[in-house]
Amino acid sequence: MRYLLAFIILSLLFTFPLDKVMAKEEQENIHEKRMELYQRVEMVTHIPWYYLAAIDQYERSVRKARTDLPDPEGLSGIYFPPEEWAGLLNPNPNDTNAKRIQFFNGRGFDGNGDGKAELTNDEDVLHAFAQYLLAYGTDHDNIKIGLWDYYKRDKTVGIIMDKAKIYKKFNKLDLDSHAFPVPLRSNHSYKNTWGDARGWGGRRIHEGTDIFANYGVPVRATAYGVVEMKGWNRYGGWRVGIRDLNNTYHYFAHLSGFAKDLKIGQVVEPGQVIGGVGSSGYGPPGTSGKFPPHLHYGMYKDNGRTEWSFDPYPHLRLWSKEERARIK
Ligand SMILES: [Zn+2]
Repeated sequence: MRYLLAFIILSLLFTFPLDKVMAKEEQENIHEKRMELYQRVEMVTHIPWYYLAAIDQYERSVRKARTDLPDPEGLSGIYFPPEEWAGLLNPNPNDTNAKRIQFFNGRGFDGNGDGKAELTNDEDVLHAFAQYLLAYGTDHDNIKIGLWDYYKRDKTVGIIMDKAKIYKKFNKLDLDSHAFPVPLRSNHSYKNTWGDARGWGGRRIHEGTDIFANYGVPVRATAYGVVEMKGWNRYGGWRVGIRDLNNTYHYFAHLSGFAKDLKIGQVVEPGQVIGGVGSSGYGPPGTSGKFPPHLHYGMYKDNGRTEWSFDPYPHLRLWSKEERARIK
């Protein structure tokens, strides 16, 4: 009986944290396997791994955000419609014969050398995209042109090139951590105000969370990302927009000012100071003090076609919890 009790207590002590450890290890394992895949393709094609990683991650994020595309299952997140893979004139849209696919001008490619070009094989899929890019070249400008011809959307090309910059700078894929936008030690408060009516500037609804804090409290990047926008807007005042690796745009408004040297195109990491809490906005450039100081924090998701806002409140709760756990 005593042993049983000890066993139960020990199980309770160990099983819960162990789950978390295992989830983390699994995640690290995936990053490791993906990096191996990118580097194998780089060895053959000479396309730097961080461009391959950026395209792969862009496509993965788009698939997760769209309901008309199948969820990513393999290591690679790149999606090819089966008919494009096999070739539009191929009578068999599910063809895996590499030679026949080539004959019908399909995008499919035999990357692992087994004679088959399979949509379910990560190496074949990533090599197929690399082969497409190789027709343009392996340097920054030619990859950019190749991507433009493929996606026909400036924003997509910009998002992918920014991701490549992030991966290159940190030289790893494990860049999923977040930070709360103001220091946890600072005096601040926020509630869920998603969708509340806003008076100024016509009928609008509130797309974000207001974090009330004192003037000048540091405002920090919440994720690894690139500064996509910085400047004045009559509603948001001085504001910054940062795009992360999941195609999510993080919007910081009503700032008192920007961190010194903060530039559009700059890579930032979670916790990095980008400005200060203020009350700018609701008028021409420089207008301030029309409402109490607070940070307006918004989140927007791009799915490769459009962008929409979603409620940041649950994420803010999670990041503050995670950050508290890290500090302990
Ligand atoms: Zn707000």
